[in-house]
Amino acid sequence: MAFRDEKLSENVPGRYYVDVLCIDCDLCRTLAPSNFDRGPEGGFSYVAKQPESPEEEASCGKAMEECPTKAIGDDGSSS
Ligand code: SF4
Repeated sequence: MAFRDEKLSENVPGRYYVDVLCIDCDLCRTLAPSNFDRGPEGGFSYVAKQPESPEEEASCGKAMEECPTKAIGDDGSSS
């Protein structure tokens, strides 16, 4: 389970975020390449764009489900 208090500062504001549990495994970037990106020096992924379509929403949800360390959070808000 991801925690809002531990979200990475690189995440764009909004519903989804990645926290410090990320191990840079690449799965979220593969499942939702429009929304997740790798940190500039590697080591973690972050939410680069919040989902803007049902397809992107589904991909982000899938990434959250599949993340091996449960580092992706969804605070349920749209702002
Ligand atoms: S799937 Fe989870 S652990 Fe893997 S890069 Fe994405 S946020 Fe990090």
